[in-house]
Amino acid sequence: MESTQFQITPPEDATVLFDGKDLSNWIKGDGGEAEWEVADDAMTVVPGTGDIMSKEEFTDFMFHLEFMTPDMPEATGQAKGNSGVFLQGQYEIQVLDSYGKDVPGKGDCGAIYNQFAPLVNACKPPLQWQTYDAIFRAVRRDEEGKVIEQARVTVLQNGMVIQNNVQLQGPTGSAKGSEEVEAGPLRLQDHGNEVKYRNIWIVPLPLKGSDKY
Ligand code: MG
Repeated sequence: MESTQFQITPPEDATVLFDGKDLSNWIKGDGGEAEWEVADDAMTVVPGTGDIMSKEEFTDFMFHLEFMTPDMPEATGQAKGNSGVFLQGQYEIQVLDSYGKDVPGKGDCGAIYNQFAPLVNACKPPLQWQTYDAIFRAVRRDEEGKVIEQARVTVLQNGMVIQNNVQLQGPTGSAKGSEEVEAGPLRLQDHGNEVKYRNIWIVPLPLKGSDKY
């Protein structure tokens, strides 16, 4: 259904993070130069080189990206085409080959890792391009800095709603325990598998509308 799909072409106000040419908008998780491979308009995880993250940081935003899991017929579970997209560097939308799984769980593709399973299994088979579109709302704090509203996210995979405005329970997985940030990068995970990404753009959103009637 065309009407439920966000546009693939970056809108005019988008920040293009990866247009297929180079990793100039990215650095390694530890700050060094990003070492993933770039070819054929896509970037590929080079296992062992580490996560990469956007140089720019974002608060509220919507984003689009495309990913492709490798064909790993012998692998199972978390070892099968694992990567991930960390919103603000701390909340992971899982990337995994979960194609055909009847009841996807909290570790499967489209899950908010170990917090929310996807509503449906929207996965395509490995070696096919898939899309993630998401709308993210960061935590809100009071004047003392105490979190008064948890972060929220809505995610579409291949045009289907897989996360419907879920309230995040703090940083996921490896990012757990860290203080939730105001703004953070988009971070892509090196989980040891040669997952590909392309066409990554993000639109920063205002934190609120006007008070005008
Ligand atoms: Mg992962």
